[in-house]
Amino acid sequence: MGLHEIEARIEKAVQDAGRDRCEVQLIAVSKVQPDTRVKAVLEAGHRLFGENYVQEAQGKWPAWREDYPDVRVDMIGPLQSNKAKLAVELFDAIHTLDRMSLAKKLAAQVQSRGRCPDLFVQVNIGREPQKAGLMPEALDEFVSDMRAMDLQIVGLMCIPPEGADPRPYFDTLAEMAARNALKGLSMGMSSDFEQAIAAGATHVRVGSAIFGARDYGHA
Ligand SMILES: *Cc1c(COP(=O)(O)O)cnc(C)c1O
Repeated sequence: MGLHEIEARIEKAVQDAGRDRCEVQLIAVSKVQPDTRVKAVLEAGHRLFGENYVQEAQGKWPAWREDYPDVRVDMIGPLQSNKAKLAVELFDAIHTLDRMSLAKKLAAQVQSRGRCPDLFVQVNIGREPQKAGLMPEALDEFVSDMRAMDLQIVGLMCIPPEGADPRPYFDTLAEMAARNALKGLSMGMSSDFEQAIAAGATHVRVGSAIFGARDYGHA
């Protein structure tokens, strides 16, 4: 388990950036990981987790929430509109709001339940056709639409193009958040969370560096 090493690296990245440790939350991305590994991280006292699949999260977190009532689980994977109801029930935050159709479904659920997960708007920061996320030029209008619908947007999320230097993408996302008066920046994964912290990340999503490689063959 690499939790302690990652905690130490976050601490150092925060110091190097002249920031405060409490400004950065570590989301331990537990998708597809065996229960024993997730349990070890829970036992070590970590309480914030990320999942990519509604069904998988539904299968494992309700039971763990009983044992660890202060646990938080964030949705960081693409969300189908027909799963909006489940998602609002299961998750404390949704990092992947990227279209009006999903926003409408979420708004309806929030209305009826009186409870809203923290919402991050995912931006397709590298304009990659195969990736989810709102195109950067559509962001400002989308954020004001969300505010008009009384949906509480807390920040932006991105996944930079693979193999590229992530720093300019992180900087761009930080500028987009600032000009929309949004404080949250969900960016940085196992390979680049230190650069993300230098660019202002408030939520880093780290999976394999904590839990080990994911074995999709046995998922
Ligand atoms: C899987 C995933 C992560 C974690 O990836 P690692 O490289 O294992 O740290 C982070 N963010 C998103 C959106 C993911 O899908």
